[in-house]
Amino acid sequence: MTGEIERLLELQDKDRECEELAAQIAHLNRQRVRLAERREQETARVEETRHAVHELERESRQRNLDVDELDTQIHAYQKQLDEGIISFKEMESLREKIANQRARINQMEDEALALMDKIIAEKENLSRAEEDLKGRLEELVAQDQSLGQRIAAEEAKLAEAKESRARIAALISPSLLGRYENLRRSFTDPVVPIKNGICTGCKLRVSGHTVERARNTDEIVTCENCSRILYIR
Ligand SMILES: [Zn+2]
Repeated sequence: MTGEIERLLELQDKDRECEELAAQIAHLNRQRVRLAERREQETARVEETRHAVHELERESRQRNLDVDELDTQIHAYQKQLDEGIISFKEMESLREKIANQRARINQMEDEALALMDKIIAEKENLSRAEEDLKGRLEELVAQDQSLGQRIAAEEAKLAEAKESRARIAALISPSLLGRYENLRRSFTDPVVPIKNGICTGCKLRVSGHTVERARNTDEIVTCENCSRILYIR
């Protein structure tokens, strides 16, 4: 096995290492994105509850205004009745209106009370959800920080591996490096051993002549089927 093959194998190992590190970094980054999504979802869920409470409160205020308005109307009708300068028929109609409005007010007041109960319950839900969210967010932030540290550590390793790769590549002749790089576009293992007359890359038998050349010469020998660079230990 020539010294050039040794260096190509070293290069191949470094390339694998770089690939694995890059895959690991990508994996950690995806986890980080998922964490951020969870943070948004959980915050949005509490925001929805908060919005629901505000809506109920707004509805409650509107109901009170409606009751006040009906009350004002009843007073106006009552005043007309008390002043008594209208016909009997009109008085009958006014009394009926007052009775209807009172019934309506009673119903609305019942509804307003039920609404108040609902608001109290929702507010309790909200403050529980807010408390839970605070804890969850702290947890998620801590997880994110730990991921950030792991990513930084992997990135440092990758930078180191890339430097090391560049040092190895500088020791290989440009034409051979070019052939290796071309093969690497198709294979993760451009340099493979021949075992029992078989290229361990494509698993096909190579010619006896190829085996001989790989064994006895210093030249770079390639597989006649897949073009990978071959060696024999
Ligand atoms: Zn092959």
